[in-house]
Amino acid sequence: MQNIDDIDIQPCIRSGYCCNKAPCYFGEVTSDTNPSCKFLEGNSPGNYKCGKYDEIVAGMPENNAEFEPAFGAGCSSALNPVRLKMKGIV
Ligand code: SF4
Repeated sequence: MQNIDDIDIQPCIRSGYCCNKAPCYFGEVTSDTNPSCKFLEGNSPGNYKCGKYDEIVAGMPENNAEFEPAFGAGCSSALNPVRLKMKGIV
């Protein structure tokens, strides 16, 4: 676990929660009725991954991707229900 300015940062475990809820600045919704990002690859918690990862990383730091989607910065949602289930907390 990382600690930045006394805040514990939980590592990403590829739950897919964030990208299934809404796309980041670089993503797009799947459809008018499906808000998940159409670039999200994988089909279950633990194996999701960003299909634009290489493109987004190649544009850093000019594209400000270190702030969003902030790959590798850890989970920002302590209430992520998919994560909690994967960790056996709920
Ligand atoms: S990180 Fe990738 S998969 Fe997730 S919302 Fe952004 S572009 Fe889509």
